[in-house]
Amino acid sequence: DKEELKQFVEEKTETKDGHHVELAANIGTPKDVDSVIENGGEGVGLFRTEFLYMGRDNMPTEDEQFESYKTVLEAMDGKPVVVRTLDIGGDKELSYLDMPEELNPFLGYRAIRLCLDREDIFRPQLRALLRASTYGTLKIMFPMVATIDEFRQAKSILLDEKEKLKSEGHDVSDDIEVGIMVEIPATAMIAKQFAKEVDFFSIGTNDLIQYTFAADRMSEHVSYLYQPFNPSLLHLIKNVIDASHEADIWTGMCGEMAGDSRAIPLLLGLGLDEFSMSATSILKARRQMKSLTTDEMKKLSDEALQCSTSEEVLDLVNAYVK
Ligand code: PEP
Ligand code: MG
Repeated sequence: DKEELKQFVEEKTETKDGHHVELAANIGTPKDVDSVIENGGEGVGLFRTEFLYMGRDNMPTEDEQFESYKTVLEAMDGKPVVVRTLDIGGDKELSYLDMPEELNPFLGYRAIRLCLDREDIFRPQLRALLRASTYGTLKIMFPMVATIDEFRQAKSILLDEKEKLKSEGHDVSDDIEVGIMVEIPATAMIAKQFAKEVDFFSIGTNDLIQYTFAADRMSEHVSYLYQPFNPSLLHLIKNVIDASHEADIWTGMCGEMAGDSRAIPLLLGLGLDEFSMSATSILKARRQMKSLTTDEMKKLSDEALQCSTSEEVLDLVNAYVK
């Protein structure tokens, strides 16, 4: 199987009828890039930067971060790299950062909420990213955005640092796309309004499922509610993709669902533009996509949207999974 998959490394990702989508990878450290290239990744769809901050006892400096981002951008050689700003909190803690005790950390002080409150942490990361931007194709993504105001605030801090860097004589790219993760139902619901202001969406299904079904993604007791194939989730995804296309921007997905062979037919039908997954899943996904046609997947997803349960959706999808 491995040998057979190798033939897809150099190939473009397209459906049987020639519709192109982008197959990208999720990474956590610069070292992970080797595997992205080996597996024919067309970009990095999610660089989880919290790993730069974890497993140490102090904040990474702006320069340290700059080196990491530059390494990844250079290694990807012009292919798009979506870097997500710090998503700490929830289940991820930093030993050197005093976090408030909360009853519901996943509903609490995390990700963009923390960064907007702690500009002393947020600004150095943005500066490091902006300085690295000339070494490749950088896209910046904010996690856990729940309101338009949060996005506007984050973007204005970014633009502020950009101006500062330029006036200090630094080179900064003028083509950096700025987008958000869609992982909160409130954001998915008004994707149309967000689409007027962001350059792209990336759907984070790991959290979007948790918040849609109000079921802690870490709790075994409610794991039956972790339902990627529930029609309610498919409707949220459709709303995001449709809104992006009406506004001429793109939608990716970087949660686990994007690499699930049972989800791929549905996501193609819904019109997803970019799929980001673990590097080792890319070639299998590319092979599967080559066997599917967009018209047929569109019919499949239309039918799935009318289903009542996950089981009904899975029954429909099974015909397209080997
Ligand atoms: C997600 O929520 O789907 C996601 C990709 O982010 P993380 O798993 O890092 O929370
Ligand atoms: Mg998430």
